Amino acid sequence: MMYDVKGSLHRVLDTLPEGVRLVAVSKYHPEDYIMAAYDEGQRIFGESHEQELSRKAAVLPKDIEWHFIGHLQTNKVKYIAPYINMVEAVDSLKLLREIDKRAARHNRRIDVLLELHIAKEATKYGLTPDDCRQLLADGEWRTMDHVRICGLMMMASNVDDEQQIASEFDTAARFFDEVKARYFADDPSFCERSWGMSDDYPLALNHRTTMVRIGTAIFGPRVY
Ligand SMILES: *Cc1c(COP(=O)(O)O)cnc(C)c1O
Repeated sequence: MMYDVKGSLHRVLDTLPEGVRLVAVSKYHPEDYIMAAYDEGQRIFGESHEQELSRKAAVLPKDIEWHFIGHLQTNKVKYIAPYINMVEAVDSLKLLREIDKRAARHNRRIDVLLELHIAKEATKYGLTPDDCRQLLADGEWRTMDHVRICGLMMMASNVDDEQQIASEFDTAARFFDEVKARYFADDPSFCERSWGMSDDYPLALNHRTTMVRIGTAIFGPRVY
């Protein structure tokens, strides 16, 4: 029997204040789960594997807004460049350059977020605050007409300690303010703070998230 996507989606949506957008993370879930959420009006979906995303995007409605939320290898950018709406986890200048180059070939502009690494886990991707400062100070991004940096994304540590998670969200929110003031004060499109997943999004709502990325709480456990 199909998981109750509709009920779960509405339970999540009911808890989100106005101004917080939901990225329904559909990785490893079948197309009919996505369509169940789509039929309830959900339009933003997040995937983290290029082949899976391309396969789904080819057969699903064209007004879905796809967000790439995982680690994106440079050599995969070309496959998603024709249609991807947002790359949420830009973690290097090299990747940013490649997105710009491939978007240009399709006469598009692709929205991106810089992925901030604050969590303690050594395995996670992302830019440390200093890496991020350096990337922005370097200024090459200003010459890239086919990407638009719309904000920051981060994943908190996968721990039970709510205080630690809250402090990581808070660090991210304060870093957002720093970057906004320094580089994007006149750019209203730099406004997104993408943090909060199934387990920690209620906490993220207290720390100025604008975009939560939720999979399990909507679609149930993933079968890998
Ligand atoms: C899988 C994933 C999520 C969703 O995780 P859930 O715990 O299922 O809500 C959010 N963000 C990223 C980057 C992910 O890879």
